[in-house]
Amino acid sequence: MPEKDDFDVVVIGLGPTGGTLANLLAMDGLSICVLEREAALYNLPRAVHFDDEIMRVFQTIGIADRLRRHLIVNRGTKFIDPDGKVLIDWPRPRAVTENGWQPSYRFHQPDLERCLRRALAKYEHVTIISGARTTRIRDNGDHVEIGFQQAGEAANRVLRSRYVVGCDGARSLTRAAMGVEMASLGFEQTWVVIDLLLTSRAVDLPDRTIQYCNPDRPATYCRNVGRRRRWEFAVGPDESPEAMLKEEAIWDFLAPWVGPASARLERKAIYTFKSALARQWQKGRVFIAGDAAHLMPPFMGQGMCAGIRDAANLAWKIGFCTRQGHDGELLRSYQSEREQNVREYIETTSRMGEFINALGDAQFSNTVFARPDGTVGMNSITPSLGSGLGDAADALLNRTFTNVTLADGSSFDRWFSTRPILIASSMIDNLPDIGAGTAVEGRIVTTTQLPELAPLLAQFGVAALLLRPDRRVLASFPGGAGFDEFLAANRMLLS
Ligand SMILES: Cc1cc2nc3c(=O)[nH]c(=O)nc-3n(C[C@H](O)[C@H](O)[C@H](O)COP(=O)(O)OP(=O)(O)OC[C@H]3O[C@@H](n4cnc5c(N)ncnc54)[C@H](O)[C@@H]3O)c2cc1C
Repeated sequence: MPEKDDFDVVVIGLGPTGGTLANLLAMDGLSICVLEREAALYNLPRAVHFDDEIMRVFQTIGIADRLRRHLIVNRGTKFIDPDGKVLIDWPRPRAVTENGWQPSYRFHQPDLERCLRRALAKYEHVTIISGARTTRIRDNGDHVEIGFQQAGEAANRVLRSRYVVGCDGARSLTRAAMGVEMASLGFEQTWVVIDLLLTSRAVDLPDRTIQYCNPDRPATYCRNVGRRRRWEFAVGPDESPEAMLKEEAIWDFLAPWVGPASARLERKAIYTFKSALARQWQKGRVFIAGDAAHLMPPFMGQGMCAGIRDAANLAWKIGFCTRQGHDGELLRSYQSEREQNVREYIETTSRMGEFINALGDAQFSNTVFARPDGTVGMNSITPSLGSGLGDAADALLNRTFTNVTLADGSSFDRWFSTRPILIASSMIDNLPDIGAGTAVEGRIVTTTQLPELAPLLAQFGVAALLLRPDRRVLASFPGGAGFDEFLAANRMLLS
């Protein structure tokens, strides 16, 4: 066990990225300290949307059931021109995806952050220090020292840990301590963001998100949970953002849809939406994740999602290194895999922003398509991971493994721990004895133990699959000779 003030991992920042990462690391049994600068939850309008992949991560950390009470299923987005003509229709059908959840949800960020904190509170090996501003980070090679200042205390305190992950947002101290710069990807625009609470049922507002592609006033409307509705609108180059944030200006803007007689202004903020990527996400034992590593405009609702994906990618790699020793190659795969994936989201959402500004064209995404009836549709993008772990020649590398529903109604993910796992056909007769047994939690699961997995192996046309804890395929074994070699090549992750 670590000494007092010694931890396996110090997580800086308890926003959605830090909260998810800390939960994943805690599930894996690591001792964690979370340093959070603020004493209270952030309460300005921010994320309102996440997707099925993210809900699957929330399921893994055990908050999906509680969070569900605070969600609605998102019905999709329409892009319309100033005359009300639909330019693109992006429906999100009600259907469970391979991740086992609906494609898209609407939520209220403080509800999520409360769920994350509540889940962390059950771990004895997690320490959360609120009102604690990290001031200094020093990587000493085999451990890291973290200095922080707690509100009301004169002296700085110092912690030690094996690894540090800065989930400390756009102005990340961790990134600065690493000496890393953000590279702009070109988008920069100031918008006003407003959250309203409807006070009357008589207001008729759309159920979908609407992107108003109006060059005079680009704007977004979101149908949020319960009585909450969100509007965002661009501030023109000759306008003062502060003037646009005044209540009078806000009600002027909202006049075509709703007025103070039927809604209450809950929260408002000015944001400069930017697209940017940190040049380096890791130096030695220090990492950045979430907004500390990347920024994107919110038109696709993917900024926070990207931070949750970072957490899911990094957590098990740090867990592995904490148990088995530092492995530089494994840890370097964090940035190389994640950066390409998030870059595609940033580029697509930035082009979408230009389209909403009526500056770009409708082909902002390769998933926009013409329907036979002449209307234009769109599907979600599913960017792949960049090169990292595994053999690029394996056609199944990094494929998402389906969240299979088992015969007892539970989902496969419920049993699928924080460690890599091998799914093997019972036709393979020389399975080694590394955790194989009767328990489903074993590191090797056969189709005899879980017959529900057999159709998936058949669908993939393989006899075995090695799965990463983030539900991606790391390696596949086609069957026939060579299983011993396959195991030997991957034994490190199965040990
Ligand atoms: C208007 C708007 C709408 C958006 N809509 C969506 C959406 O629908 N879907 C989506 O996925 N994303 C959306 N986003 C993006 C999303 O809100 C962010 O990507 C997300 O909040 C980033 O989470 P994070 O945990 O990385 O950083 P943050 O939420 O910024 O959290 C960082 C934490 O670190 C703490 N901290 C900072 N410095 C220190 C320090 N020195 N010491 C200790 N603690 C520190 C902060 O107090 C904070 O709690 C939206 C953003 C905006 C502005």
